[in-house]
Amino acid sequence: MSLLSQKTINKDISFKGVGLHSGLEANLTIKPSEPNTGIIFKRTDIKENNIIIPNIFNVSSAIFCTTISNEMNISVSTIEHLMGALYGLGIDNALIEIDNYEVPILDGSAKIFVEEILKTGIKTSSVPIKVIKIEKKIEFADEKKIISIEPSKISLDIDFKLKYENALIGEQRNLIKVYESDLTDIYNSRTFCLYEDIKKLREMGLAKGGNLKNAIVVKDNQILNEGGLRNSKEFVNHKILDCMGDLYLAGYKIIGKIICTKGGHKLTNQLLRKVFKNDENFSLLEIKEKNLPHAFINKSNLRSIA
Ligand SMILES: [Zn+2]
Repeated sequence: MSLLSQKTINKDISFKGVGLHSGLEANLTIKPSEPNTGIIFKRTDIKENNIIIPNIFNVSSAIFCTTISNEMNISVSTIEHLMGALYGLGIDNALIEIDNYEVPILDGSAKIFVEEILKTGIKTSSVPIKVIKIEKKIEFADEKKIISIEPSKISLDIDFKLKYENALIGEQRNLIKVYESDLTDIYNSRTFCLYEDIKKLREMGLAKGGNLKNAIVVKDNQILNEGGLRNSKEFVNHKILDCMGDLYLAGYKIIGKIICTKGGHKLTNQLLRKVFKNDENFSLLEIKEKNLPHAFINKSNLRSIA
């Protein structure tokens, strides 16, 4: 059984909860699927045209959360934490059935998705994985928000910096190697907002399902959630989780290095659109053990690409 083979989950896993923005309850079930089918969303509350592929070109909105839509405008939103969990755990193929338009926010992180997937177990096939290898440096900027991706040997590095005027959040930076680092803090880090933004978000029809059980709320120098933070870099770690989830909309795992300052869903999506505009920016590799690049030989270091 190859370490670099495609994976799915052992059996169905169900979740139930409200959407962060819609406040609407949804039932979501992750189902095992065959190699080379990828991650697919299916809206079970809709009878026709209910399949939505999490692909960068299907992102219809990336403000506050990532929403994907098919050509009939059937959408699923806030997919990023689930996609981040699937990326980190190396799940290549799964059918995600949902009976509403927003993925349950659960505890605001990917913790519950990850725990349930690990509890159910991961099933490995004999079909090799494919990876996208970045060949050229590409950058996308929107005023002071900057993101770039450049070639790396075998890893996906995410070097993320956030800067908030709020002194408690302030500046945080973290660098993770997605296939090598322990991602527990990344998975467990919750979405967050400033107390003073809640009114504005609600007026925009957002954050209707938000509360202190599924989001960190920062008021001046205080965290309003009982128990405070789950880890000292929880803010930037959550942004890294978002980034992983949004990167997985490339369709395959990526070999490259991301450097990002003040980024978010929109910036990651714009960067990937720029990368895939030109075939020279990347190559698609099928990883078979017999033609592994030299750098892959120390496979024990590779947790989740494997
Ligand atoms: Zn998020």
